[in-house]
Amino acid sequence: MTTHEELKIEVMTLAEEVGVKPNAIHIRAMKRKWASCSSKGRLTFNETLLDEPKEVQYKVILHELLHLKYPNHGKMFNILLKSYLEKISPDKN
Ligand SMILES: [Zn+2]
Repeated sequence: MTTHEELKIEVMTLAEEVGVKPNAIHIRAMKRKWASCSSKGRLTFNETLLDEPKEVQYKVILHELLHLKYPNHGKMFNILLKSYLEKISPDKN
């Protein structure tokens, strides 16, 4: 299981890779989703994510980080998400 601290470090590391700067990173219990991204650049991650395998965490973190660049799920968003996952994911195949 990942600690809050480790997940935040993961987020910061990936943020640098993507070239974005989240204003704040929060980890707390959420009802229905993995994570959210506010218009002010605040990222919130569901603490149940801490129990998930690394590749799931990467996917969720990258998804939210890319929302700091692209607020929607448009074509560019998906192209970038895919390319970052291929580049960064620890167990790519
Ligand atoms: Zn999204």
